Amino acid sequence: MKKLLSIENLTFLGIILGVFTGVYFPEFATSIKFLGDIFLNLLKMIVIPLIFVSIFVAISKLSSVEELKSIGVKAFLYYLTTTSLAVITGIIVINIFPFSFPHINPSQEVNNLSKLTLEGFIQNIIPSNIFQSLAEGKALHAIVFAILFSTSVLYIQSSLKRKLIVDFFDGLNDAFLKMAKWIVALSPIGVYSLIGYVVAEKGFGTILSLWQYVLVVLIGVFWHFTVNLPSLAYFIGKFNPVKYFKQVREALLIAFSTCSSSATLPVSIEVAEKEVGIPKKVAGFILPLGATINMDGTALYTAIASIFIANVYGIDLTLTDEILIFITATLASIGAAAIPSAGLITMTLIFSTVGIPIEGISLIIAVDRFLDMFRTATNVWGDLIGAKLISRYIN
Ligand code: ASP
Repeated sequence: MKKLLSIENLTFLGIILGVFTGVYFPEFATSIKFLGDIFLNLLKMIVIPLIFVSIFVAISKLSSVEELKSIGVKAFLYYLTTTSLAVITGIIVINIFPFSFPHINPSQEVNNLSKLTLEGFIQNIIPSNIFQSLAEGKALHAIVFAILFSTSVLYIQSSLKRKLIVDFFDGLNDAFLKMAKWIVALSPIGVYSLIGYVVAEKGFGTILSLWQYVLVVLIGVFWHFTVNLPSLAYFIGKFNPVKYFKQVREALLIAFSTCSSSATLPVSIEVAEKEVGIPKKVAGFILPLGATINMDGTALYTAIASIFIANVYGIDLTLTDEILIFITATLASIGAAAIPSAGLITMTLIFSTVGIPIEGISLIIAVDRFLDMFRTATNVWGDLIGAKLISRYIN
C-alpha cells in the first residue's frame, strides 16, 4: 500500500486527474491555478542557490583540477553527441513524414533579427555583476562564477581555510536538498493544478487542427527518448535504461508538468543522489550544467519547427540551409533558458539565419505549451542519463 501511494505514483495520478479536471471542470481548474504557481515558486526559490552550491561542492570534492577537466571534457562530448543526435533525428523525421499543409504567403519580408555569433555567445555567458545575475536567475552566469570560484578555492594554500569554506557550502547543500525533498512531497498537488490549468486554458481543439505537426514532433521526441538516449545508456554507460527510468521517473513527471528543466533541477539532484546513488561530485556538477545547456528535446523541436514553417511558406530549403539549421539548433539550445517556451524564443535565431519570416511562429504557438511538456521531459532525461553515464567513467 505504501508503495502504491508513493510520491511518484501520486504525481502520475495528479497528471491524469489534472487532465480530467481541465476538460470537465475548466472553471474549477482555473480557480486553483494558484496552487500550481506556489509549487513552481517553491522550486524556483531554491534553484539558483542550489545550482551555485551544488557545483561548488561537486568541484571541491574532486581530487584535482585534472579531474575537473576530465569530467568537463566528458560532459562536453556527451552533450554535443546527444544534442546532435537529437537534431539529426528531428531533421530526418520531418523530411520523411508525408504531411500536407496548405501553403501560406508571408505578409512581410524576412526580419533582420540578431544573428547567432560565437563572440556574442561567449560574451553573454560572462557575468559583469554576479549579484545582479543571481538576483535575475541567470543560471549560466551562476555556473560560470561557481566553477571559477570553486576552482580558486582548490588553490587556497591554508588547508584550514579551505576546509572551512568547503564545510560551509557542504552544510548549505545538505540543507537545500532537505528543502527540495519537502517541496517534492507537494508535487502531486502542484502537478494536478498546473496540468488542470493548461488543459482548461488551451483545450484540445488546437492540437487537433495542427495534428500533423504535433505528430511529427512527438515521433521525433519519442524516438530520441526511447531509442537514442537509452542506446547510449546501454552501450556506453552499460546500465539498464528501463530500471534507471523507474528510479528517476519523479523528476521526469515534474519536468513534464512544469515545462522547466530549471525548476526540475532540485528534484533531479535529489533522485540522482539519493535514489540512484550517483556521487555528488558528478551529479552536483553535471545536472545543473545539463539543465542549463543540454537540451536535446528543445534542439530537436526547434529544428522540426523551422523546417515545418519553411515548408508552409513554400521556402525551398537547400542542403546548406539544413546544415545551418543543424548548427544553429544545436547552439541555440545551449543558450536557451530552462523555462517554459524558451525554445520558441531561440527558434527566432534559426529563422534569421536561414531566412524564415518571424511571423511563422504564430502558426505553431497554440500547441507550444503542449509540446513543451514532452521536450522538457526529454531534456531532463538526457541530463539524467548523462550523469549516470559519466559517473561510470569517473573513479
Ligand atoms: N521548457 C524547456 C526547458 O525548460 C525549454 C524549451 O524548450 O522551451 O527545458
